[in-house]
Amino acid sequence: MERLIDKFGRPITDLRIAITDRCNYKCVYCRTGTQGALYADLPFDDYLRMARVFAGLGIEKIRITGGEPLLRHEVVDFVAQSARLRTLDGRPLDLAITTNGHLLAELAQPLKDAGLQRVTVSMDAVEPQRFARITRVSNGFEAVLAGVRAAKRAGLEPLKVNCVLLRGFNDDQIVGFGKFARDEGVIVRFIEFMPLEEDRVWSPEIVVTLQEVLVRMAAFRPLMEIPHGRSETARRYRFDDGIGEIGIVAPVSQPFCGACSRVRLTSDGKIRTCLFSLFDHDLHAVMRRGGSDDDMVAFIRKVVAHKEERHHIGEPSFEKPSRSMVHIGG
Ligand code: SAM
Repeated sequence: MERLIDKFGRPITDLRIAITDRCNYKCVYCRTGTQGALYADLPFDDYLRMARVFAGLGIEKIRITGGEPLLRHEVVDFVAQSARLRTLDGRPLDLAITTNGHLLAELAQPLKDAGLQRVTVSMDAVEPQRFARITRVSNGFEAVLAGVRAAKRAGLEPLKVNCVLLRGFNDDQIVGFGKFARDEGVIVRFIEFMPLEEDRVWSPEIVVTLQEVLVRMAAFRPLMEIPHGRSETARRYRFDDGIGEIGIVAPVSQPFCGACSRVRLTSDGKIRTCLFSLFDHDLHAVMRRGGSDDDMVAFIRKVVAHKEERHHIGEPSFEKPSRSMVHIGG
């Protein structure tokens, strides 16, 4: 079977599947706080069939996300089923989850046992009170810290902690996160804030850029850059004494669209070829109509061929994408 490739010649090897758009956190930069789930969840068999068809087209990596993926209890079984999928050359897929970590303490070991390889935990503050103000959940920090530690104990490594920085809001946490990376033995990655929120919060001024993070972290301890792969989104750094890794994902100040290898499936089974797509493509409708795997393959190829060349963040031509982050799957 020919591998998926878009019209710009980019091989598509990375699939993100949102298994719900419900979330137990209401992070103030992501959600209005009044809006709930907007789209349906599908039965896991449907996601599994889509994942299998994608794997047959050269997908090598699946990241399970949401909404909050751990809110669906059968996620452990879904991981176990997905772990049986094989790449075109017969290897197991690289299987990861992105989670807010609130329910991870209990699920880390079962997920590992089911075949999960890695987990990325989202955390936007290292101070419990600040964490509560951002997430609008009072006991979140302790739960997430327990989740991070349980994931490490279970061997879900390297463990990445993703932090979205907003100026004047949590950028004073940068050095705290540097210490957190060193103390907890995790990779902390700072993500530039993108215009994907339910409300209008984004402005170019609120984005804390890669360059700024480097300068502010260097005031704590010097960072040395370490090599990163071409399709890797993060620039990687290690502290000068070799303890603690920091990554910076800079889609706004240093876009990496030219090396993008990703497509996304929303919780209701639609393909999104870019976070900033103005349309989704209803793969699940092909299944509902009784389409065969070959029909799905033809649909996926056509959609992926037309993947957007790049995003237009900060440009006058920027148009608000048709879904916000929590309803796409980050
Ligand atoms: N609930 C899971 C979690 O918290 O990781 C998965 C979904 S969440 C939408 C995925 C990631 O997107 C989180 O790390 C969140 O901070 C990030 N995110 C949300 N809105 C964002 C934005 N506008 N720009 C950049 N990242 C964003």
